[in-house]
Amino acid sequence: MQGAFVDTGAKVGHRDDSSPDRLHCPYRSYNKEEGLMRFPYRVLAFLLSSAFLMAAAHSAALDKNNSPWWAHIKTLASDDFQGRLTGSPGYRKAADYVAGVFEREGLKPAGTDGYFQDVKFEVQTIQTASSRVMLTSGKAAPIDVSEALVLSPGILQRKETKAPLVFAGYGIHLPEEGYDDFAGLDVRGAIVVFIVGGPESIAGAHRAHAIAEVLPHYLESAGAVGVMQIGTPKNREVPWARQKAAGTQPGMVLAEKGLRRYQGEMFGTSFDETKAEMLFAGSGKTFEGLVALADAHKPLPHLKLATTINAHVEAEVAPLTSVNVVGELPGSDPALAPEAVVLSAHLDHLGTGKPDHGNGIFHGAMDDASGIATLLQSAHMFNASKAKPRRSILFLAVCAEEKGLLGSRYFAAHPTSHAGHLIADINTDMFLPLYPLHAVVGFGADDSTLGDDVREVAAKSGVKLVPDPEPDHLVFVRSDQYNFVRKGTPAIMLQMSPAPGTPQEATRKEWFSQRYHAQADDLDQPVDLGAAEAYTRLVYQLAVHVADQQARPKWKESSYFARFATSPLP
Ligand SMILES: [Zn+2]
Repeated sequence: MQGAFVDTGAKVGHRDDSSPDRLHCPYRSYNKEEGLMRFPYRVLAFLLSSAFLMAAAHSAALDKNNSPWWAHIKTLASDDFQGRLTGSPGYRKAADYVAGVFEREGLKPAGTDGYFQDVKFEVQTIQTASSRVMLTSGKAAPIDVSEALVLSPGILQRKETKAPLVFAGYGIHLPEEGYDDFAGLDVRGAIVVFIVGGPESIAGAHRAHAIAEVLPHYLESAGAVGVMQIGTPKNREVPWARQKAAGTQPGMVLAEKGLRRYQGEMFGTSFDETKAEMLFAGSGKTFEGLVALADAHKPLPHLKLATTINAHVEAEVAPLTSVNVVGELPGSDPALAPEAVVLSAHLDHLGTGKPDHGNGIFHGAMDDASGIATLLQSAHMFNASKAKPRRSILFLAVCAEEKGLLGSRYFAAHPTSHAGHLIADINTDMFLPLYPLHAVVGFGADDSTLGDDVREVAAKSGVKLVPDPEPDHLVFVRSDQYNFVRKGTPAIMLQMSPAPGTPQEATRKEWFSQRYHAQADDLDQPVDLGAAEAYTRLVYQLAVHVADQQARPKWKESSYFARFATSPLP
């Protein structure tokens, strides 16, 4: 999963090694894969099949040596794959592994070159040591603020920028919704400063859309030369030091200009909120006062500030090619087979970095080797059960999710198969099987009939669909399903959800603080393998259900995203 939807830089982190690994219960009885029991008269064949032998093995305790789901993770998150950074040899090796499993499970190559789809990027590496950002306030001498900000690696940076700062509240430009932080504000030639958040009157999805989609276009059309985002102390997800370290990692944009958020270069930054007061010197407003309004989701003022930035940024930009991996199970019903259900997960992770735990490799076992393992196991279940879904199923492993959802953005713009007929995306990213599976959150469940499908399928195994307990975190727009949503395709992502106030909830929180985008997301962590297998069966059963039912999934009229079905985004 992406660190934050507006900051496309990778996040690196630290682990508190003083805290002990938690105990967990990996023992759970194994239910035979659906479909194996459909032909009771073929008992003999069944007994002799390897599927039976595997099922028999699993009716004993599941451990990391006999879980087929974990076996994929054990490979992909091993040292050999070097953290699967998009475009790296480790990533390529992972892509070859996935293609090999697709082939073994009988999927048809559905890329542009066998199972692969080339995705071309520009990679930007910022030379922080030779870059300098100075802030001038009134007649005072300029001060060096280079340490107080991160130059966004995912925005192609201008080399020289000398410009006044303009404060644009939350940076939300939605005049048709009656809210415009830019009304009467001249931003030509200026750096636009905004606080991440939004007024109560604008729903979370609108806010996310305003910042991720509307703001870049607006800034460029209005002639702004820079953008500076500031979080509030309350909403900080990772410590500033982690964010600062992430700024040294290379960023990527798609080579195809039309698919980029910014068409040209920008002075793009995030500013440390603990130092932000200095930006507002002489403006008649204090950052502290603005944060109080933001924390209460009140409207913010917008005004010209009394400060100026003078920046010199050195960066290298080089081309890079990586791949998405696509396999297809063709549909069996001539009328419905032209339509395809996409099962997706991201194959990339953060590569390597300064060692914070062990050997400096970001293994990404949960993020998102776990989702890839579920994808591969789903392919195996279709193969083993000889299921013949009516619609086609596309198995999609994408690159560059961690660089700003770029591989899926490219695929959604250029589907290699069934273009114009992708009817659903079921995405799996970091579903976190840390305890037994009783409930899932369905990101996007309220937006389309896919939520009803999940409810129906999950109920059969006693799993509940529960509401998102953290809607302000906007997870629905922070993983690959969002790129299908942008194109008008109903999408859903399921994550395991702990009941509020339980030890499981604490376990999940602890996982985020110690392992999320940290090198401790590795093979040694405790995982509930029974829950992982049960979750994988749920995804498989959902895919079967959506592929087989007569009606294709539909957006709910009440959904904000329904509009993209008639007017998809570029
Ligand atoms: Zn991630």
